Amino acid sequence: MRIAIAKFGQETSTFSPVATTLDTFKLYGLYEGQQVLDKAKGVGAVGGFLDVAESSELDWTPVPLFGAWAGASGVITAETLKYFEDKLIAGLQAAKPVDAFFFDLHGAGQAENQPDTEGHLLAISREILGDDVPIIIALDHHANLTQMMVENANGLVAHRTQPHNPFDTGQQAARMLIAQLRGEIAPTMAWQKIPMITHQEQFLTSHGPMKEWFDLAREMETRPGVVSASTFPMQPWLDVPEGGWAAAVVTNNDPALARELAAELADKAWQLRDQFWVMDSVTPEVAIRRAVAAENGVVILSDTGDAVFGGATGDSTTILTEMLRQQITQPALLTLVDPEVVGIAINAGVGSEITVQLGGKLDHNFGQPVEITAEVVKIGGGRIEAVVIGLESFDLGRAVLLKAGSIQIVVCEARGIGGNHPIVYRHFGVEPAEAKMLVVKTASNWQYYRDMTSEVIRVNTPGATMSRLQDFDWQQLPRPIYPLDDLPQWSAR
Ligand SMILES: [Zn+2]
Repeated sequence: MRIAIAKFGQETSTFSPVATTLDTFKLYGLYEGQQVLDKAKGVGAVGGFLDVAESSELDWTPVPLFGAWAGASGVITAETLKYFEDKLIAGLQAAKPVDAFFFDLHGAGQAENQPDTEGHLLAISREILGDDVPIIIALDHHANLTQMMVENANGLVAHRTQPHNPFDTGQQAARMLIAQLRGEIAPTMAWQKIPMITHQEQFLTSHGPMKEWFDLAREMETRPGVVSASTFPMQPWLDVPEGGWAAAVVTNNDPALARELAAELADKAWQLRDQFWVMDSVTPEVAIRRAVAAENGVVILSDTGDAVFGGATGDSTTILTEMLRQQITQPALLTLVDPEVVGIAINAGVGSEITVQLGGKLDHNFGQPVEITAEVVKIGGGRIEAVVIGLESFDLGRAVLLKAGSIQIVVCEARGIGGNHPIVYRHFGVEPAEAKMLVVKTASNWQYYRDMTSEVIRVNTPGATMSRLQDFDWQQLPRPIYPLDDLPQWSAR
């Protein structure tokens, strides 16, 4: 058997001003042919898929097409989407005949000419492969599930936890596909849209309403006839016509059961809606005071508005400005994107002192530079190998380490992963465990600091991924939607 394999992923923040181009994909990984498989070993959904499929008794050959991941940023340019369209068409045509197609997708990619890039690519795939070739997809659970995606896939699996575990998702997808190819199951799928969006502050599945909702899906998967149950708390910065949460259930040849369970999952999310809207972030002023007063470090300061994993620019100076204003003397670490300052620092050289307008240059809606005098401590950057949320490496561009008093700042040309993994600091010889406070550019993915974290403080900061969703200028989102509109009653049934 021949199974085509491809990966395409980008998470769009409609409110980020930085467009996503082919170069963005190159920064996070753009591979072809055998490289798709080599780079996936043990990592991501493709890695999980290979892990299960290779150890199964199925006699099969992988036919890798392309692997493309761009992290999260602004809208994808039409030219970039066209590039992947062409690649997909040529790849599938050349791969034929195939017995199945495994497509690893993010599911929240918006292009300037296509609000539903994944649905669009799946429709193209279906047209080329015909109705008899199963298409199984893996999705990030922050995907915006759409009609076109569901129509053109035979089965889907979303991440079952946050922090994300794409490897597990790929394993589940492989199990589903193998069972289908062996004739053990006939997948039938139903889905339900839920007219709500929420901020990211209750997105962890370890506790609270998200745990309750995801646990229900896990319990459903133990019921007879259920193949997979997926919950989609859409990432909340996607302004598209079909935007909103969703649930999807795959059953074994039982469409009525799939519909009933998708409705049950949707109603459950709706019942929990107020709990999903509980905010625990505090103002930057309160956050820094609390971090200074904390007995031990490392206090993780989560820059919720500038989450690079959600598509923000990674150059917000809000928290740094507050650190400077309060004249903190404790060791603090953060990262900022600023190609201009990287150039100035490299020209000045290690050991010199520079006074620059730092950060706040990319996002004109929310950003503003801060003037800082700092010592250039080290020059570094480039491609860094580390497994971070399904990536096997990322590129910082050129980067420098600046020091202003007790504050050390890694300034990079490219966003990479922000400072969301200790390797970004260790790369410069700085041990983050020795810091009192450390800024992460994520609202939930601080797991890489788990070993050294004394406390996490979510900071209510402005930016393309801010929690105050009501403050965005929504244009495309279907209305009415909770909580932007008055929508007291709703049920999927
Ligand atoms: Zn996600």
